[in-house]
Amino acid sequence: MQTYQLFIDNQWVEPDSGSYFDALDPFSGAPWARVPQGNARDVDRACRAAEAAFHGPWSRLSATERGMLLVRLAQLIEQNAEQLAAAESRDNGKLLGEVLGQVRYTAKYFRYYGGLADKIQGAVVPIDKPKVFNYTRYEPVGVVATITPWNSSLLLTAWKVAPALCAGNTIVAKPSEHTSVSMFLLARLFEQAGFPAGVFNVVTGLGKDVGEPLVAHPAVGVVAFTGGDEGGRRVAVQAAQHLKRCTLELGGKSPNIVFDDADLTNAANGVVTGIFSAGGQTCMAGSRLLLQESIHDRFVARLLEICKDARLGNPAEPGVQMGPVATRPQFDKVMDYIAIAKAEGAQCVQGGRSRSGPGYGAGQFVEPTIFTGVHNGMRIAQEEVFGPVLSVIPFKDEADAVRIGNDIRFGLAAGVWTQSLHRAMVMSERLRAGTVWVNNYRSTSFTTPFGGFKNSGLGREGGVEAVKEFLEVKSVWISS
Ligand code: NAD
Repeated sequence: MQTYQLFIDNQWVEPDSGSYFDALDPFSGAPWARVPQGNARDVDRACRAAEAAFHGPWSRLSATERGMLLVRLAQLIEQNAEQLAAAESRDNGKLLGEVLGQVRYTAKYFRYYGGLADKIQGAVVPIDKPKVFNYTRYEPVGVVATITPWNSSLLLTAWKVAPALCAGNTIVAKPSEHTSVSMFLLARLFEQAGFPAGVFNVVTGLGKDVGEPLVAHPAVGVVAFTGGDEGGRRVAVQAAQHLKRCTLELGGKSPNIVFDDADLTNAANGVVTGIFSAGGQTCMAGSRLLLQESIHDRFVARLLEICKDARLGNPAEPGVQMGPVATRPQFDKVMDYIAIAKAEGAQCVQGGRSRSGPGYGAGQFVEPTIFTGVHNGMRIAQEEVFGPVLSVIPFKDEADAVRIGNDIRFGLAAGVWTQSLHRAMVMSERLRAGTVWVNNYRSTSFTTPFGGFKNSGLGREGGVEAVKEFLEVKSVWISS
């Protein structure tokens, strides 16, 4: 079993604590790697290295040279995609094929932001005073801390690291304690690509031991966080205490809204992948299906038809459609929510059970589960389960769909299925969410922003908007 070390200043170093913890394979339940248990002293060391790189070699490179390093990194990620995907799938239990696609997409983020690095421009500003010349310059903030969850470690880290480096910052990355290994492999590629020492550092460990000192560290200028809203709130409070900026990509309870004029075959497939991809362990999961009353029964019948033979099993095996839940506490949480939904009076029309025995490893499996008879006030309709559980809520008309869709503290995403262009436009405008998908679901791209309204977050990742999160703007006045 391999033991990894922290990656600080391009060195592989032992953690200050001298302690390591096990990375667990969610399918077998067995340990498969040893991960360093970082602490505040490791964080300090990494932040100082990142600060020195920021004031030194990294800032001395031209934006074009920095961009070329990002493109080189993208090539290395592509070349090593299978190894990266195998590590991440082993850590989080997601289907190997799905993770491989994500890793290849991760490379595209680095390539896109590599191309953008030398295209960040200020402006010449007209001034209402004589004999002065004013222009704006965009400058990097300094050290960026990235704190990420277990569901898509590499991709969600890339969403932060690529635009932050594009803007000229340096990084201290803290992956989830449940999925650290792919971050060490990524660090190796940074080393191989020829990034100067200290530009990218990795400190692993728990939120309280590594995350909190990282947010508090004086060298850190921006904290880019993805995780649950509870952790996000703690990060925001702590960042405010230290008067520093943060971006937050938090949870969701996204409505997927199907009208009776939709192409129902496409809509049914979109609803199923919208909730059950990655076993529902995605922030953008379409976990509330809002279904127009007139098609309720026949549409639910279609969903049952698609789900009835879903193949659960080892995520590395071809043909398997759903892997295990990533961690034991998360598995317990999903099963608790299924019990809560039943107690609230929702009808379980599909799944609702765990699976164990031969072929199911350590038994951390939950069947794709569908509840009908849900109303939007129920906990199963309001709280993020982060598992394969779909709540079906009927609605009458557009106004009703908008009211139910928006009656939630989250605002990450929404899906709308209709063949009416007018309805698509009205719904896209009225739904309070950072992303609205019409006749598709779960699409994301490095070229366009992603992020949440309301309690789903602050700031945006993706596209040019993401770079702005990591820049300061300076106004320069010159008199002759
Ligand atoms: P989490 O909030 O428990 O942990 C996320 C990260 O924060 C981990 O690295 C953790 O160690 C760290 N952390 C925890 N407490 C901290 C603290 N006080 N200070 C600093 N760091 C701290 O989330 P999770 O359980 O790993 O992930 C699941 C959650 O992530 C879900 O709610 C999901 O919706 C959300 N998520 C959001 C997006 C998005 O883009 N909006 C994407 C994926 C996941």
